[in-house]
Amino acid sequence: MNWSSTLFAGKRFAVVGLGRNGLPAARALVAMGAGVTVWDDTPAARDAASGLVVAEPVMIGLDALVLSPGIPHYGPDAHPAALAAIAAGVPIWSDAELLFQAVRASSSKARFAGITGTNGKSTTTALLAHILDIAGIPVAAGGNLGTAALALPLLPDTGVYVLEMSSYMLERLATLRFGAAAMLNLSPDHLDRHGDMAGYIAAKRHVFDRQRTGDLAVVGADDAASRAMVESLRGAPAKIVTVSEHAGIAALAGAAALPGAHNAQNAAAATAMALHLGAPRAAVAEGIRSYPGLPHRQELVARRGRIRFVNDSKATNADSTARALICYDRILWIAGGMAKEGGITPLVEFFPRVVETLLIGRDAPVLAATLAAYGQPHRNLGTLEAAVAEAWRLAKRDGGEIVVLLSPACASWDQFSGFDQRGDRFRTLAQACVMEVGE
Ligand code: ADP
Repeated sequence: MNWSSTLFAGKRFAVVGLGRNGLPAARALVAMGAGVTVWDDTPAARDAASGLVVAEPVMIGLDALVLSPGIPHYGPDAHPAALAAIAAGVPIWSDAELLFQAVRASSSKARFAGITGTNGKSTTTALLAHILDIAGIPVAAGGNLGTAALALPLLPDTGVYVLEMSSYMLERLATLRFGAAAMLNLSPDHLDRHGDMAGYIAAKRHVFDRQRTGDLAVVGADDAASRAMVESLRGAPAKIVTVSEHAGIAALAGAAALPGAHNAQNAAAATAMALHLGAPRAAVAEGIRSYPGLPHRQELVARRGRIRFVNDSKATNADSTARALICYDRILWIAGGMAKEGGITPLVEFFPRVVETLLIGRDAPVLAATLAAYGQPHRNLGTLEAAVAEAWRLAKRDGGEIVVLLSPACASWDQFSGFDQRGDRFRTLAQACVMEVGE
């Protein structure tokens, strides 16, 4: 099935922010017949918009402003185009809203599943899509992670869109209704943007807006803010299911790509949604078992005998790193980069699992001070290259089962373009180690 080239004929949109989301969204709108102007404050981004009409947005006659998820529409950093839209009464929509409108305008009854929360969004999105695929249900997944929503294909009535929704995207919906929605957990994040925790929670709650009788609302049960959200949903028409890290899911025992209690919560959420969307139980079990995992999230990248290399580069704060440290008994831990507030102090309880910590990056001295205070063996190796080489040397000398774990608990910007480049480099280095001959 293809989008009609006249689907949005006569409609006019301005797209501001031409990144991973805005550019494909703009091209999709043009392909659907809309009149589209695009803008980005960065000249290089404007240059990348070849074939599109680049112009500073003018609100007169616009049906909507499509604002990149990274650009605020309120608060101290609100973009002038957003303020102009609000003043002119022009709605600000995320491309997920436009996808929903495009699907309905195409007379498809395909359903929508939306997933949000502070952590676990990508995993739950990918897992649900995998399960539905195994169940033979036409599925397209994207949004905040992966393919931009508007770049997804048109699905038939039996299809399901699985969308990872950031709080920013959730604030820019008008008609999109998620027949199955999940809000996994809430911990302080992006508060700079939302003002305070209340603002952040309010944004996340929008995933349940417009739900009806027969719809499903999946909500986390492991933190107070999520539990409060469950209470606030009590009067709503959707069926509420709570999900916890302590969920017992038999199929998880064989699921190599879903380690740790946090993944029990993600699997519970994906299971509830998949069953609601019509997947048979057998497909759910098979999907959990065969889920291949996402890169950079406790990704097993290399193995030789009793030595495993695990890439957890996505762990950019102590909370996420804790999720990995708890999974292994003997660890050579590679950490460091740009430390978050509190550093690795919250990880002290896991130190006994760590044989030695090899530090890298700008804030290695900050992390070293914590390790020294607890008498933990550690060295500052400076670079990822040096740390992996040293970890490999130590692992070979070691007699037991051991995991070389990159779980930095730090942002990567001091040495890399992002966590994905850091993880890709680690994978390459690790694979080179285990390929080494003459051992
Ligand atoms: P997101 O897309 O929300 O950032 P991911 O699925 O990419 O989430 O997982 C990122 C990290 O968050 C994981 O590596 C893990 O450390 C942590 N995490 C994943 N799921 C959960 C969960 N349900 N609860 C708490 N932490 C989680």
